[in-house]
Amino acid sequence: MTPLEGINDDAVLDRRHFFHPGTDLAQFAGGDLPSRIITGGKGIHVTDRDGHRMIDGFAGLWCVNVGYGRTEIAEAVRAQMDRLSYYHSYSGNSNEPAIHLSARIAGMIGMDMNHVFYGLSGSDANETNAKVVWYYHRILGKPAKRKLIARHRSYHGSGVMSGSLTGQPGFHDLFGLPLPEVLHVASPHYWRDALPGESERDYSLRLAKELEDLILQEGPDTVAAFFAEPVVGSGGILPSPEGYWEAVQKVLRRHDVLLVADEVVTGFGRTGAAFGSHLYDIRPDLMALAKGLSSGYLPISASVVSDRVWQVLEEGTRQNGPFIHGWTYSAHPVCAAAANANLDIIEREGLVANARDTGAHFQNCLQDAFAGHPMVGEVRGVGLLAAVEFVEDRSPRRFFDPARGIGAKVTEAARRKGLIVRSMPKSDGIGFAPPLTLTIAEAEEIVGIALDAALAVAADL
Ligand code: PMP
Repeated sequence: MTPLEGINDDAVLDRRHFFHPGTDLAQFAGGDLPSRIITGGKGIHVTDRDGHRMIDGFAGLWCVNVGYGRTEIAEAVRAQMDRLSYYHSYSGNSNEPAIHLSARIAGMIGMDMNHVFYGLSGSDANETNAKVVWYYHRILGKPAKRKLIARHRSYHGSGVMSGSLTGQPGFHDLFGLPLPEVLHVASPHYWRDALPGESERDYSLRLAKELEDLILQEGPDTVAAFFAEPVVGSGGILPSPEGYWEAVQKVLRRHDVLLVADEVVTGFGRTGAAFGSHLYDIRPDLMALAKGLSSGYLPISASVVSDRVWQVLEEGTRQNGPFIHGWTYSAHPVCAAAANANLDIIEREGLVANARDTGAHFQNCLQDAFAGHPMVGEVRGVGLLAAVEFVEDRSPRRFFDPARGIGAKVTEAARRKGLIVRSMPKSDGIGFAPPLTLTIAEAEEIVGIALDAALAVAADL
């Protein structure tokens, strides 16, 4: 019997043949986890195959920055496929969309970051960044500088190296990761982790000192780079506290440790600035971009290289020949065309400014709706990135037993009311990252539904 014979229900085929990422396979196969088949998207809404229309308050996986159903991206993709569907970019081969995209990304970022390497996912951008870092130090005669420091709670991808950099145990334990070169320090979570009476600034200085202590303990001549998200994303949506980046960058410079800013989520307007690095005055040596680069219309990622690092890469190839690293689909012309059309929309519609302005209203509405509720510990965010964290008691602070899954319950209640938010199990909260096209009315609608959902769960406790 062929797999398809006698079956006309996609949900059955889904359970039998589709190996889903991040999924409890046994629950899914057994039917305890629903097969959610999404069939349409327009604006900030998605529709499932049963016709339920939902607000996507998380823009897919915080990537659909321009919203769903943009025909202009589809047309750009179609035109590029007709002209040139694919050609590789090894050995100096090139294509027009990727050339234009590179100059454009460099122009948007500024800060002397002028060279762009392409991949297909945020994970592979960080694989590339790790190799560039190693190559850089080797060419400068410091091959022992190999250790990479990232932060607990952080997310940098799911590959062997990017998954090692990710600071969440679930990505490590059953795979024998992290790789031995990778170390983790605390990420800043002021509300949860600061000492009683400690100011934001003092907390930031303490974390920077912990980073410096680790570098000194390992030996600065063995530490190559620090990888960090300007705003910790899937680890809880944690905007950086005052003074954090200033203090951390001083430490890195003192010990010749490169800074890789993972802007896979924060890039292209999500925080209300074009890049999180602009928001916090971060001067990275390398950057990882994906998600908002194409708003998820087609897969494309970028590693952006600063001039300082670039000079060393050029010197390296003068000494050793080609930089031997790349993917078949690096700088895929159709993906680059989708990215260009996406950036056209972001620029023309002023979506970075909208993320700042409508974002500010959204943050205020969330504060007004949630901050006074006894089940709410903290409401935090920046731009169109926000989280509400739940607690069993506010004073003295007592967290819910994670097994009760309060964030997941609120997420499920919101879904039943027509709103997708993200359950944030690491912090027992819910996360929001709607498309950057959000209007004031849509912002208020999202907050209203989320509050109803949280109140329904609270009433059941
Ligand atoms: N870095 C960050 C900050 C991310 O949030 C993600 C994805 N959520 C990645 C890297 C990895 O991206 P991808 O899933 O496209 O590999």
